Amino acid sequence: MSVLVVGSVAFDTLKTPHGDVDNILGGAATHFALAASFFTDTKVVAVVGEDFTEEQRKVFEGRRIDLSGLEVSKGKTFRWGAEYGQNPNDRTTLFTELNVFENFRPQIPESYRDCEYLFLANIHPELQLEVMEQVTKPRMVAADTMNYWIERTPEALARMLKQIDVLVINDEEARQLSGEQNLVVAAEKVRAMGPETLVIKRGEQGVLLFSKDDRFAAPGYPLEKVIDPTGAGDSFGGGFAGYLASCRSLSDATLRQAIVIGSVMGSLCVEDFGTRRLEALSRDKVIERYREFKRLTQFEDL
Ligand code: AMP
Repeated sequence: MSVLVVGSVAFDTLKTPHGDVDNILGGAATHFALAASFFTDTKVVAVVGEDFTEEQRKVFEGRRIDLSGLEVSKGKTFRWGAEYGQNPNDRTTLFTELNVFENFRPQIPESYRDCEYLFLANIHPELQLEVMEQVTKPRMVAADTMNYWIERTPEALARMLKQIDVLVINDEEARQLSGEQNLVVAAEKVRAMGPETLVIKRGEQGVLLFSKDDRFAAPGYPLEKVIDPTGAGDSFGGGFAGYLASCRSLSDATLRQAIVIGSVMGSLCVEDFGTRRLEALSRDKVIERYREFKRLTQFEDL
């Protein structure tokens, strides 16, 4: 089963304690698609400008990624700049140039409309709703959002939440959305807003899953060096949704595996700048890290 992602393709300028890069390929849909393509066919709906090069397109080629929903518009590709402190969660956005992203109205190609697994990356909740209207009968709709939309478009966000199955957000967003500090209380409040399943990403501290009948926690993989945290959340989303689509199951056991697969992809992504690590990655390495996660969290009964 394939997965469809709608989100940004970007040029990122990044500064971390391990170096700087200018205008490298990034964006939520990019990281998502590279991660998901290890598990299933991945369809991308996004927009780029005329400055998007053949070389950048090649990054997606030779993988299970379909770019026929990538629109090329007059103008420049979305650009984003950020700087990280010693603590990888400590990120300052330096600039956001929306460019062609400003007037992005996602058009789902006819051939994508029967897609059963849908991931709405962080875009305006009205656009997330428009995408849902264009997809015939998805088995699973997962979405991301951010503080910007929680603050500015609460009404549209509330409508979006009512229509999705899985929400994937970080801990601060869960607190802000629910008005609760305690994450367990926050999670139940957010689930009551619509999504039956809630995934809370906590950076280095790992991930929490709250579903109807299950709760699960995966640790962050202990890494000596985080070279560039950009895209960890989207790589998580790609691994998570791509794996679920490949299994055709949404059981609690599969959701738990998907959380670990997402954590594997996020932890690998941050080992180099931008998409470099995912570009160079082998399937064997993905499986090896999955097994390391299992060893890391297994213990004997009393
Ligand atoms: P993450 O590190 O998972 O939060 O995702 C970072 C990616 O999101 C970068 O590659 C950016 O290009 C992209 N990004 C940053 N701000 C936005 C935004 N406002 N809308 C869409 N994508 C964004």
